[in-house]
Amino acid sequence: MTGYQRVLLKLSGEVFGGGEVGLDLDVINRIAGEVASVAKSGVQVGIVVGGGNFFRGAELQQRGMERARADYMGMLGTVMNCLALQDLTEKHGVETRVQTAITMGQVAEPYIPRRAIRHMEKGRVVIFGAGAGMPFFSTDTVAAQRALETRCEVILMGKQGVDGVYDSDPHQNPSAVMFERLTYDEYLARDLKVADATGIAMARDNRMDMVFFNLSTEGNILRVVQGEKIGTLVSA
Ligand code: UDP
Repeated sequence: MTGYQRVLLKLSGEVFGGGEVGLDLDVINRIAGEVASVAKSGVQVGIVVGGGNFFRGAELQQRGMERARADYMGMLGTVMNCLALQDLTEKHGVETRVQTAITMGQVAEPYIPRRAIRHMEKGRVVIFGAGAGMPFFSTDTVAAQRALETRCEVILMGKQGVDGVYDSDPHQNPSAVMFERLTYDEYLARDLKVADATGIAMARDNRMDMVFFNLSTEGNILRVVQGEKIGTLVSA
C-alpha cells in the first residue's frame, strides 16, 4: 500500500448540499475534518469544488435562461461551497487558501498555479472555486486541469453514496457490478456518466489516474489517500 504525496480531491456540489439545495454544514464539517487529517498527515491537498447544490447551467437553460449566463451562476455557486469548506477546514486547525478562476479579491485569491503549488508545499489546503471561469465547462474537467497544472499525482473523485464506477446505475439496477479497475478507453467506450467525458479524455491523454470512491463512508478520504484499494481506479 503506497500512499500519495499530492492529491487533487474533487467534491461535487451534491456533497455540500447533502442531496438538497443549499449547504449541509454537518456533512461539510465531517468532510473538512477528514481533509484536515489528511493535510496533518503531511499529504498535500488541492480541492476542486462543484456547485450543483446551487445551480447547474444546463438546468437553468432548460428553464429558459441563456446558457452562458446560467453557467456563470453555476460557477458563482461553487465559490459559496469553497468558503464554507474553507471556514470549517480552518476550524479543524489547518490553513487553507481559496483560489478562484473568476477574480473576486475580497473573498479569494485569483487562480495562480505556481502560488497554489507553493501553498500546498507549505501544508495549506488549496480550494479551487469558480470552475474554469468559462461557460460550457464542468468542474470535473477543471479537476483534471488543476491536477495536471499543479502536478498532483491522482484525481480523487468523491461520490455521494456510491462506492465507485458501476456497469449500470446501482440505484436503478440492484445487480449492477462495480469495477475495481478500468481504463479510460473502456470508460469512454461504455459511455459511463460518473464524470464528464471532457475531463476523462484530458486525464487519459495526460496519463493521470482517477479514483472514484464513496465519500459517505467515514474515513474514506484518508483511506484512498493512503493508497488503500477502495472504489474504482481508472487509468490510461
Ligand atoms: N460551470 C461552468 N464552467 C466551469 C465549471 C462549472 O460553467 O468551468 C458551471 C456549470 O453551469 C455547472 C455549474 O457551474 O453546471 C456547477 O458545476 P458542476 O455541475 O460541475 O458541479 P457538480 O456537478 O460537481 O456539483
